[in-house]
Amino acid sequence: MLTKAPKGTNDMLPDKSHIWQYLEDEIRKICKEYNFKEIRTPVFEHTELFERGVGDTTDVVQKEMYTFMDKGDRSITLRPEGTSPCARLYIEHGLFNIPQPAKLFYIISCYRYENKQAGRYREFHQFGAESLGSQEPSVDAELMSLAMLLYERIGLKNLKLNINSIGCPKCRSAYNEKLKEYLKPYYDNLCDTCKSRFDKNPLRILDCKSDICKGIVKDAPLLLDCICDECSDHFEKVKSYLEGMGIEYHIDPLIVRGLDYYTKTVFEIIADNKNSNSTICGGGRYDGLIEELGHAPTPATGFALGLERLILTMEEQGIEIPEPNDTEIFVASIGEDAAKFTQAITFGLRKEGIKAECDHLNRSVKAQMKFANKLNAKYTIVLGDDEINNKKAGLKCMENGEITEIDLDVKKIADALR
Ligand code: ATP
Ligand code: MG
Repeated sequence: MLTKAPKGTNDMLPDKSHIWQYLEDEIRKICKEYNFKEIRTPVFEHTELFERGVGDTTDVVQKEMYTFMDKGDRSITLRPEGTSPCARLYIEHGLFNIPQPAKLFYIISCYRYENKQAGRYREFHQFGAESLGSQEPSVDAELMSLAMLLYERIGLKNLKLNINSIGCPKCRSAYNEKLKEYLKPYYDNLCDTCKSRFDKNPLRILDCKSDICKGIVKDAPLLLDCICDECSDHFEKVKSYLEGMGIEYHIDPLIVRGLDYYTKTVFEIIADNKNSNSTICGGGRYDGLIEELGHAPTPATGFALGLERLILTMEEQGIEIPEPNDTEIFVASIGEDAAKFTQAITFGLRKEGIKAECDHLNRSVKAQMKFANKLNAKYTIVLGDDEINNKKAGLKCMENGEITEIDLDVKKIADALR
């Protein structure tokens, strides 16, 4: 136990950190281009934020939350997702007063008590972007374009953008009755969770993972066929904005999404993976959430994409992010006095913005050179008493073996490396 991380968690190892940094850089870059501003929220929130009054009927809320009482007897939940915290932040800090829509993004860890499988973990990471304060369909299309462009820049192929509209509470309640009518004869065969959803939120039954429920809903009436004129018009406009940007999409009338707060547009981006779960991004409009949290009705839309699944997909598609190999100089030393001097020179070079390294294991000169090779250092310099006394040393280019004599002066060495 002492040397094993909890099930469903992953350590980030030093030989992979550059991939995460690369992705985070790309995310921050694209968000800047789209004018989304970064936010950070706490890892834990009040449980009510996710449960919200009437009770959510999704797997995330019903089965997967890490909820516990803290020492002050408050019910606390590790965030399973980023949208509700973002909506909470928007209300709490009055972001409805800034020019709308408020365009926010986050890179966060999320916690869900799920069974571990490829691409499904108990701690995972999401990049999410949320646009709050506009009901315009252009916002939905803008968000989808951001996710698709990000994937394109990373080099992902065979992606499918699937979209659907799940209507508004008005058209959904009419549909729910129709769906219940259809499901009634099969009620006894539904799984227990779906039985409990039958009255509260029958739509959710369409998203059940059990094979029996899947079989039952196969021929159910489609919500997309029943949405009201306003929702239908909104959906048509989303599609035309996507077409305007040349973004290919597919209509999938079965997408319901894993959280109850969605309205109108919902979408998923699917990667054609052989070995891992393939939904790499999910999002949609949630015009009811902010009102549910007690604020004035405020339309909003957003998405979240899983970073672990993105990395798995990159690996499956053979996209490699080379580890930056940029140790510019290794400063080797002979003897203890020289070691002190060496560290000072290394420090000086780092102050000049140069990636410099020296020995910390009291290695022999030969071993230090071997180590420099392992670091792929472009240059090395060996400092012994002679070099220090004469203030001159040999700067060796590791690629061609050429040695140039150089003054032992940080600025001069730095200039020679640039
Ligand atoms: P799924 O249907 O795969 O369970 P979801 O609908 O629960 O996904 P969302 O809540 O929409 O997922 O989260 C957005 C994204 O976060 C997903 O598309 C996926 O990439 C990622 N994700 C969700 N759950 C996990 C998990 N347990 N481990 C790793 N990534 C996850
Ligand atoms: Mg899920």
